[in-house]
Amino acid sequence: MRSGGRVKVPPKLLSFLNEEDEFLIATHINPEPDAIGSSLALSIALESLGKITVLYDRDTITEMYRFLPGCEKFTNSITSPSLPLILLDCNSLERAGIEGMDFTYSAVIDHHETEKDFGDIKWIDPESAATGMMVFYLLKELGVRITKDIAVNLYSAIAIDTGTFRYSNTNAEVLRVGAELIEAGANPAYISKNLYETWSEKRFTLLIKALNTLEIRDNVAITFVTGDMFKETGTGTEDTENFANFPRMMKDIKISAFFREINNNYWKVSLRSKGDINVARIATLFNGGGHKNAAGYEIKASLESAKESLLTRIIQ
Ligand code: 5GP
Ligand code: MN
Repeated sequence: MRSGGRVKVPPKLLSFLNEEDEFLIATHINPEPDAIGSSLALSIALESLGKITVLYDRDTITEMYRFLPGCEKFTNSITSPSLPLILLDCNSLERAGIEGMDFTYSAVIDHHETEKDFGDIKWIDPESAATGMMVFYLLKELGVRITKDIAVNLYSAIAIDTGTFRYSNTNAEVLRVGAELIEAGANPAYISKNLYETWSEKRFTLLIKALNTLEIRDNVAITFVTGDMFKETGTGTEDTENFANFPRMMKDIKISAFFREINNNYWKVSLRSKGDINVARIATLFNGGGHKNAAGYEIKASLESAKESLLTRIIQ
């Protein structure tokens, strides 16, 4: 919903947030800064209005993102499923790892272009660069003052989803919001250092191993990480976040596909593309989803057949 290029917050969402006193805020599995930052910013804001919030994520927040103010408030158990739910940066219970749970009322705030039919209130705006942008406008409508903690969370959310203001979703509006968040106390250098320059050595060793698997076929770069590589380096799932971005640096690469072994013959695939190549559409063919230039899915197959079925779908 937009007017004059700016995001318009649905009135139904505002009255829901104003009327209820307690909320469960949940976001997607393997949370990254847009998921974490927009959830924390909304939680801090609602609490400043005298509300109570419970913040849920199935997975623990990776060490690198623990600089986000308030992140210790996340829990991975739901003790009160009767609370109204606010789902952020995803639009299905499956993506939040809470499928099968029964919520009395739910609101969805998300910017993914692959939409699922869930939520009593759905505010899904694929034109928004980040869920953090939507939360920013929501807080303005709620009359909440943007504190330093809120600003750091929202700036980090927007930074990660725009490749720190480099991707095609970066526009004047994004930069204006970024500037306002800096004025409210977000320090760009401090945030960039925390987002991009705090890798453990073992994570870097894992990246070297992943890059060594590089195979280029028809302008598609394929890399992978196996369970054994995790063991050899003492790393875990969360350490591969954004590994898919690296091969996209090559001029002639149109799509980067990164395979992470979840289990024997079970893979998580991260796709990255350039320009108009829509990898969300490809991910949807495998029951996944995401954005035009960044998407993902899971597949039960051997690595070789998972690669082949992806290449077949890309060439089609
Ligand atoms: P990543 O490759 O970093 O895990 O995810 C890239 C984008 O695709 C993110 O916006 C993420 O939410 C989305 N995505 C990744 N995997 C899945 C999936 O299995 N299902 C859906 N619906 N979206 C996914
Ligand atoms: Mn996002």
